[in-house]
Amino acid sequence: MSVDILKTSIEYLKGVGPRRGELLRQEAGIFSFGDLLEFYPFRYVDRSRFYKVSEVLEDYPYVQLRGFISDVELHGQKRATRMTATFTDDSGSLELVWFNGIKWLKNAYKPNVEYIVFGKPSLFNRRFNIVHPEVEPVSPGAINQESAMQPVYNSSEKLRAQGLDSRGIGKLMRTLLPLVIDHVNETLPPHLLEAIRLPDRKTTLSDIHFPSGPNALKKAIARLKFEELFYIQLNLLRHKLLRDEKSGGHIFKQIGDYFNGFFYQCLSFELTGAQKRVIKEIRGDTLSGKQMNRLLQGDVGSGKTVVAVMSMLMALDNGFQACLMAPTEILAFQHYESVSNMLAPLGIKVGLLTGSTRSTQRRELLTALKQGELQIIIGTHALIEDVVEFDKLGLVVIDEQHRFGVAQRAKLWSKGHVPPHILVMTATPIPRTLAMTLYGDLDVSVIDELPPGRKPIKTIHQYDSHRLKVFGFMREQIKQGRQIYVVYPLIKESETLDLKDLTDGYESITREFPLPKYAVSIVHGQMKPADKDFEMQRFVKGQTHIMVATTVIEVGIDVPNASVMIIESAERFGLSQLHQLRGRVGRGAEQSYCILMSGHKLSNEARKRIEVMVRSNDGFEIAEMDLKLRGPGDIQGTQQSGILELKMADLARDEAILKFARDKARDLLSNDPHLDKPAHQMVARRLRALYHDKLFWSRIS
Ligand code: ADP
Ligand code: MG
Repeated sequence: MSVDILKTSIEYLKGVGPRRGELLRQEAGIFSFGDLLEFYPFRYVDRSRFYKVSEVLEDYPYVQLRGFISDVELHGQKRATRMTATFTDDSGSLELVWFNGIKWLKNAYKPNVEYIVFGKPSLFNRRFNIVHPEVEPVSPGAINQESAMQPVYNSSEKLRAQGLDSRGIGKLMRTLLPLVIDHVNETLPPHLLEAIRLPDRKTTLSDIHFPSGPNALKKAIARLKFEELFYIQLNLLRHKLLRDEKSGGHIFKQIGDYFNGFFYQCLSFELTGAQKRVIKEIRGDTLSGKQMNRLLQGDVGSGKTVVAVMSMLMALDNGFQACLMAPTEILAFQHYESVSNMLAPLGIKVGLLTGSTRSTQRRELLTALKQGELQIIIGTHALIEDVVEFDKLGLVVIDEQHRFGVAQRAKLWSKGHVPPHILVMTATPIPRTLAMTLYGDLDVSVIDELPPGRKPIKTIHQYDSHRLKVFGFMREQIKQGRQIYVVYPLIKESETLDLKDLTDGYESITREFPLPKYAVSIVHGQMKPADKDFEMQRFVKGQTHIMVATTVIEVGIDVPNASVMIIESAERFGLSQLHQLRGRVGRGAEQSYCILMSGHKLSNEARKRIEVMVRSNDGFEIAEMDLKLRGPGDIQGTQQSGILELKMADLARDEAILKFARDKARDLLSNDPHLDKPAHQMVARRLRALYHDKLFWSRIS
């Protein structure tokens, strides 16, 4: 029996032992030799070259300098809290700073001795400094011995305390590599490797840790990125394939009286070209005999609701029921109101089911649903509870799906023998790469056209100190008959603090806009749903001029007469959230405005976000910027996905590789859908190993 050395527990590696082993497991998720082998450096530093102080820039990750240390000073009382020194070479000087270990360091550096200083420069009070530099005296042997590409590994406080800083981990890697490298299995089929001209896995793993040269490193990185994205895409595409094979879909054969009645009698406007195209796509899906799994992306205000309604009518025309799920009660209610109004002329009954639906009413609803008397139901998560049974559910529309977890989507699929068609709608435009990765198993439709006659929203940035001017502007707009939103950020961790901001703001606004001339509404997350609804309705009906709110109004609220959106502390919002909020206005015929309020002190990133908002109204452009500024981990809705814990690939940068990987995965599956061919056994094995426990799909298909 051969033992797989890659599965050997990490503590048995020379230099690890039980204590460090435990730490590696806890802190870095490294359990085995194989895990350590796949613990890749996150960057490489050039230790073969010396920089000049005059070249040092904030965005150099690490630099190595050569020069003299002088003016060592201790700061703070008795037990010094900080030590500084001046570092000088023939081009200039910068400051070195230490916060720890001062006791040992204060007499360590001698004048007239030349040192090598290595660290990460940063800008502080307009002067460059290096905090906790590595310092060693120049000795003839030390120079140019180091590699031009020294790996840098992520470490943690606890690991560092056990000697496992980047260098320490590098040392383990040097021990590990020769032990295991010959046991590394290839994971990409030879024909593919050849076609894409990338190195084999052994070479790759060796070069990723200890590059034999810049070119080799480049290739190793490219291969690992490709491989990572390839398997994600292969997994998604394979599940799409299995789903299509296994579960048939309801066929909505005819377009009947409901659809036509709505189209000819109820629709008060001409559909946009994009809306028509999407409806055709959905029509195609629901005729295909396969289950539809479609993502509908459309910017705020692009008119997704009508598309949803017309799709539901296709279901009804064929004797099926439909449901529409929204992420919040308020939004479900608003959908319920507008959809039942739209459909009233056709005599279609619509039900509303949320967490706060009373039990008698709930019982009636559930019976009507089960007996097929109720054709359309709108609601929240309450709809996916087990007690909710349909007679013939044909279509599920999910609005703003990023709030629904993958597991919930899966649960829907499992209802009934033949699963219903699924239409997922999102108003948060998602960058292409992210959509491909998160929703790679869905077909995608895009509404890329706004209804005609919309005036682009004017976005303005104002500092808090100009508040009086903003109040003046608000008065003027109210005089013209408009309504105004004032939104405060809400961040979970400090809800009480946020609430205080909100109530303070509400007070100053009621002072500035007093009764009886003005009426002001307030809505926040800690109010009872009934009170919230009451206030919301007052604003919707035009009984109040100003709505002071937290981000509970973020999604979906539709008040065409509201033309001004004032966002307080705009610097605390993410880009896509700002864009969502702004989308609450600009829905009527009037010119609309979005005013971003902020203090004078802004981080670079906050300033960039505000600049993007002022410059662009394009949700897709904003989504791409969001991805670039924050990275995919922080994009709304991706946290729970797991899929995005990418080791190598970067969705903000690697779009080309991603597309290539998706194409190659598709090629492979069209050639061998079930990975039966001998050459693809390694692929099947790898896929199973990677997705073994993440396979939420297995329960469905
Ligand atoms: P969203 O895509 O944000 O959900 P909605 O469906 O709420 O957008 O539509 C926004 C507004 O635009 C609604 O008041 C709706 O009636 C209106 N609308 C939708 N489609 C059209 C169209 N083709 N022409 C004119 N107005 C439209
Ligand atoms: Mg909507």
